[in-house]
Amino acid sequence: MSTILVFGHRNPDTDAIGAAIGLARLEQALGQDAQAVALGKPNAETRYALDHFGLKAPRVIERAAPETTDVMLVDHNERQQSVADIADLTVHKVIDHHRIANFETTAPLYFRAEPVGCTCTILTRMYDENDIPIPGDTAGIMASAIISDTLLLRSPTTTDADRNALAHLASIADISPDAYGTDLLRAGTDLGDAQPATLIGRDAKSYTMSGTEVRLAQLNTVDPTDILDRRDEFLAAMRAEAEHAGYDLFLLLITNVLTTDSDVLVVGDPLDAVDAALTVTIRDGHAFAKGLVSRKKQIVPQLTRALAQ
Ligand code: MN
Ligand code: MN
Repeated sequence: MSTILVFGHRNPDTDAIGAAIGLARLEQALGQDAQAVALGKPNAETRYALDHFGLKAPRVIERAAPETTDVMLVDHNERQQSVADIADLTVHKVIDHHRIANFETTAPLYFRAEPVGCTCTILTRMYDENDIPIPGDTAGIMASAIISDTLLLRSPTTTDADRNALAHLASIADISPDAYGTDLLRAGTDLGDAQPATLIGRDAKSYTMSGTEVRLAQLNTVDPTDILDRRDEFLAAMRAEAEHAGYDLFLLLITNVLTTDSDVLVVGDPLDAVDAALTVTIRDGHAFAKGLVSRKKQIVPQLTRALAQ
């Protein structure tokens, strides 16, 4: 086997990058020639975490070939979220905590999906199962991933396994989850001077649901009014992107990481499916959704059902 490239989804978040680093290091400890790479540059939150623990950002790739045909996927399995040439590659492992969709292989593989809050929670168990100690910097980026995915253990996706893994990783990395976690989440809310057209693609994923092309984007904030004051600009950017990329529905979640509520901006059709899925009423492209923070648990299943009707 040639070098194995390990990577998370496009528009990587802290789990996509942290889990790639975590799995690549575990594979190396088990004797494999594995290397963590990424399908995009780290966002502000991930950069904060990498800097904090003295780690370098993984190299960005767009295709795995010609350097290798051997890959492992973390934090995703759907092909439209993966590397451009995924269909030509041999996937040896998948470690994930999302729904399974659009995934098939020609050869047997190690496939591990658990309904926990973060891929790095599963990886923490895998280190333990293999009796491999987790290096301090790796524990730090993995702890950051759990904090990020679970919004400091407050998201409804959080399980006891996440709580236990974070406590374990935090002790290895010598951080206080609350103090460090609050700084990390705040670092992720820095919109800089980026324009709406850029911001709506920063953390966005595509889904096909009963033939409807859906784009789900999310921005974390500590003050949603910053974004809502520019609602029309954001809606216009979403309309343009939907037109350009062929999305039928484009949702932007503006998630307040302090209250764990979201404002939702929506363009496209069918709006009644979005109303039903989120139990809101969208007016002028906007609705407030109390307690809504998780795409994978609070939107994707409900919207998939609503669009199937
Ligand atoms: Mn992710
Ligand atoms: Mn994740």
